[in-house]
Amino acid sequence: MSALYFDSASTTPVDADVVAEMIDALRAGLGNPSATGHSYGRAAAQRVESCRRQIADEFGCEPDEVIFTSGATEADNLALAGVAHAHADKGRHLIVSAIEHRAVLACAEQLERDGFAVTRVKPDANGVVAPAAIAAAIRPDTLLISLMHTNNEIGVIQPIEAVAELAAEAGVLFHVDAAQAVGKFEIDLGALPIDLLTASAHKLHGPQGIGCLILRNRRLLKLAPLMQGGAHEYGLRPGTLPVHQIIGFASALRKAARQRAHDLAQVTAVRARLLDTLSVEADPDVVVQGAAAPQRSPYILGLSFPGLSSDALINQLDGQVAIASGSACSSGALEPSYVLRAMGVDDPLLYGAVRVSFDRTHSIEQAEEAARRIAAAVRIRQLMQESG
Ligand SMILES: *Cc1c(COP(=O)(O)O)cnc(C)c1O
Repeated sequence: MSALYFDSASTTPVDADVVAEMIDALRAGLGNPSATGHSYGRAAAQRVESCRRQIADEFGCEPDEVIFTSGATEADNLALAGVAHAHADKGRHLIVSAIEHRAVLACAEQLERDGFAVTRVKPDANGVVAPAAIAAAIRPDTLLISLMHTNNEIGVIQPIEAVAELAAEAGVLFHVDAAQAVGKFEIDLGALPIDLLTASAHKLHGPQGIGCLILRNRRLLKLAPLMQGGAHEYGLRPGTLPVHQIIGFASALRKAARQRAHDLAQVTAVRARLLDTLSVEADPDVVVQGAAAPQRSPYILGLSFPGLSSDALINQLDGQVAIASGSACSSGALEPSYVLRAMGVDDPLLYGAVRVSFDRTHSIEQAEEAARRIAAAVRIRQLMQESG
């Protein structure tokens, strides 16, 4: 019996068509896309620019607003640190939500050490960050608001449109970490006043190690690069572009956009079947985190089993279902999820949190089988706790 993979929010299997395109690209003997003095380099540059156009089309932005990075972590860092350091003369305050990905939160902490002030806005009990709470945090010296599209632990979708509008009105830049949303939901930057947007290929069946920061109005909006080394990506991100990775990213995004409605419907059904099976077979007390949020992604399910430790459950499931723990082990101690803590989740639920996440490759049968295995593991652990 091999483990059923239900940790798609951490990474998705690379699509077979994407793999084929990447292998073709690796075998094609392409040059360095910066070496445009010869045909090898020009062929590589043409492939990169064609991908850049395809990616821009998906977001409704201009090709020269796509800055390739190593993934979402780097794009988040480039957005926050890049804006802060380039505009420090205008202000030294940033607003982030308390439930951002660690890439945003850790970068914000570093900026505090560098002399910037950061306000962390908490979500409500459903994991939703209220636009009014963000508006209340804006100061005259606020440079940037950073709010994720879809939370990576509980799948709650944030009120991006409302915050984009209030940020634009206040003249504050707006960054959206959309790593869990790109490909899955349509994001039209032509209609939404978002200034910076983070994406990562491996969350949408593309390769690991490639993503981008979309930088609207690149010619007007100054950004400080994280690294020095060359004029690549308009001087914002030096280093030779990984052509095969970029080809894989564009290919994955095209496919995701083409199948968006189909995938969403399928994942919605798969997730519903897993939940149904789980509540019939297991613990009637299973809690879905953020259940009452107005908008949630069907791709991510944050579950809590009252009184159960998530680590005990994950150990019990080892080799049967691959899911993520809602808590992290830092310096030997079990730390509950900062997302659930910020939502005000109480102790019995806080330590029994796990994340089950889905992708287009999952079948209804796999969801049923995963739910049965999780239910059995929950029962075993509960019996063990009762007896001892
Ligand atoms: C996965 C993820 C990241 C990090 O992405 P990488 O490409 O692995 O660096 C950042 N933010 C969110 C919301 C994510 O889900």
